[in-house]
Amino acid sequence: MVAWKGETEIMIKNFLMTPGPTPVPPEVLLAMAKPIIHHRTPQFQKILQEVEENLKYIFQTREDVMILTSSGTGAMESAVSNLLSPKDKAITVQGGKFGERWTELCQAYGVETVIINVEWGKAVDPKVIADTLAKTKAKAVFTTLCETSTGVITDIKAIAEVTKKTDAVLVVDAISGLGAVECRMDEWGIDAVISGSQKGLMIPPGLAFIAVSQKAWKLVEQSKCPKYYFDLKAAKKAVAKTDTPWTPAITLVIGLNEALKILKQETLEGIINRHKKMAKACREAAKALGLKLYSPTASSDAVTAVEVPQGIDGEKLVKTMRDEYGVGIAGGQAQLKGKVFRIASMGYMNQFDIIVAISCLETVLSKMGYKFELGAGVKAAQKVFLE
Ligand SMILES: *Cc1c(COP(=O)(O)O)cnc(C)c1O
Repeated sequence: MVAWKGETEIMIKNFLMTPGPTPVPPEVLLAMAKPIIHHRTPQFQKILQEVEENLKYIFQTREDVMILTSSGTGAMESAVSNLLSPKDKAITVQGGKFGERWTELCQAYGVETVIINVEWGKAVDPKVIADTLAKTKAKAVFTTLCETSTGVITDIKAIAEVTKKTDAVLVVDAISGLGAVECRMDEWGIDAVISGSQKGLMIPPGLAFIAVSQKAWKLVEQSKCPKYYFDLKAAKKAVAKTDTPWTPAITLVIGLNEALKILKQETLEGIINRHKKMAKACREAAKALGLKLYSPTASSDAVTAVEVPQGIDGEKLVKTMRDEYGVGIAGGQAQLKGKVFRIASMGYMNQFDIIVAISCLETVLSKMGYKFELGAGVKAAQKVFLE
């Protein structure tokens, strides 16, 4: 959207740099603008088939990737209601808002939770998971690949090493991580990987995904939690017929097909390297501006959380960048409200999106009276991209 607005009197051009939703490539938008087709047709089946194959590549799995029509949380809910039964014991890792969601979901289904509380900004120690599993004999471990609220990356590979040796299944919320950072379902031994459409997968919100290992499927067979719309048995049966149990979000699936083709062309390695560089540029820029990273010991490559400096109104900073300059970054959630801002490096973004975000951050920080050398952040970011 182009508009003349605000006291800055500049032409507002919008840049979406939030950790979901993320920008959508023009090819994807155009594909979604075509007239709607029916879903029980060979035409749509062909699209579903391509989508299924390319999703497996992104998920790094041979298992079926089930497509649900919901936001990411729907797939999280499906994991709880399909893998467990009331009174089962499950470990949840809580180091941010999304970890807390696992606990809330388990409790909604009467699953007994063993909560591992992790200091916000830090990653869980896989040894703690091993000890807790040994003590509690929990059936499942619920984790978050990239804790979007704090910018923390979890060492899922190391946690999978732990769960592989036990009867417990490892469930990973990779909603903001997939298509941005490494997550190798089969090779690492993850039992359920969950994702959503509006983060690394470069399409609008409205689709969720879940892939389930053979080990976890045994739990699905025994599960006694109530379910209907999110019944994974129905979803899996449909995948076998290149179909969906209910009317899918046809338009989004068509968009996804285009987005996955773009991602596949870049290759997983290319995608991961691009995100590594973008996030490093954000971190170096923040440091060059004299700002502190919120999670310096476990920074994810999908989103960078930066502490708001003393004397600066964090909420006003984010609001000014968005409303006066059109650059949308995210503020802090829950206890981090006003204390951090978050710049996404996720999905359809490249080095120049990052430069725009840093440059706007500098402009607004300068106007708000924060003292630093103008251009220092942009320079630090450019240096990373030139490496
Ligand atoms: C965005 C996000 C979610 C929530 O997804 P919705 O699509 O809003 O339901 C869950 N977990 C993580 C890590 C996320 O980043």
